[in-house]
Amino acid sequence: MSRLDHVETLRREALRQIEAADSQTLETLRIEWLGRKSGQVTALLRSIPTVPAEERGAFGQAVNALKAEVTARLAERKAALAAPAQARAAVDVTMPGRQPALGRLHPITRAAREMIEIFGRLGFEVVEGPEVEDEWHNFVALNIPPEHPARDPLDNYYLDDRLLLRTQTSTVQIRVMENRPPPVRIIAPGRVYRPETVDAGHSNMFHQLEGLWVEQGVTFADLKGVLSMFARAFFGPDVRTRFLPSYFPFTEPSAELYVSCLLCAGKGCPACKRTGWMEIGGCGMVDPNVFEAVGYDAEEVTGFAFGFGIERPAMLKYGINDIRLLFENDLRFLRQF
Ligand SMILES: [Zn+2]
Repeated sequence: MSRLDHVETLRREALRQIEAADSQTLETLRIEWLGRKSGQVTALLRSIPTVPAEERGAFGQAVNALKAEVTARLAERKAALAAPAQARAAVDVTMPGRQPALGRLHPITRAAREMIEIFGRLGFEVVEGPEVEDEWHNFVALNIPPEHPARDPLDNYYLDDRLLLRTQTSTVQIRVMENRPPPVRIIAPGRVYRPETVDAGHSNMFHQLEGLWVEQGVTFADLKGVLSMFARAFFGPDVRTRFLPSYFPFTEPSAELYVSCLLCAGKGCPACKRTGWMEIGGCGMVDPNVFEAVGYDAEEVTGFAFGFGIERPAMLKYGINDIRLLFENDLRFLRQF
């Protein structure tokens, strides 16, 4: 092997070792190659004067180039190994941490949970049902015949001839009564859908809370007692309730539930149209036809049902004047709750 080939072989070996070195072995490598006493490059430099004169020039150049290259590569490698350590040192552990973004409950969720909690104290169990319903559960079993205006395709989101998005949570009452014998004491919170024109007071999707109590000897007095107690627990101890005769296909007798206006305490203001009262839901004694549809004996048990939107009571309670705010997901609004 010629002297130049030998220098080239050593060069490749030196570069390979430097590239593979870590911060611990790098200094050892430097001594091994460039060390003043026994470094391999140092030995080559010392051997230059012994090389025959005709080869000495080229050999000397090659060896000096090798020394320069090894020196440079060692420095590069040292810098590369030090870089991550510098990055670590750049983290200032005394800086305040990033504040984790805490979420909060949507006002509808808050209101619904509070309602569930109040009825839970009165022994009502929470049940849920599907949002896509068939006509039997949404209409027929609830004593709403085919010619009833509530079944108009323009007033419902039909998915096909048989299925629709439920327009009320009363469907859950039917499903529960079909599947278990009395006594039944349930509430069913959930979303319902109606093709309403969206404005400050209406949304085509909203939430309802439906209640049902069926047992021997349940009377209208129980209905009034439960709903009056709920109104005081939800709106405050001073709120008054009023039951106005009404009509629903699935209850007889039926009533609308009013609470005294929260804004004017019943004196009369624009929000309550100067009546002092605000309607929040409907209720009544379960119609015997409904019991018949689900196979209950109407001579044996009686019961009452009620239902109200969750949005309206929540808006009254939290002072919200536009239902659309609840569904626009504007954080400036939602952060207030
Ligand atoms: Zn008022």
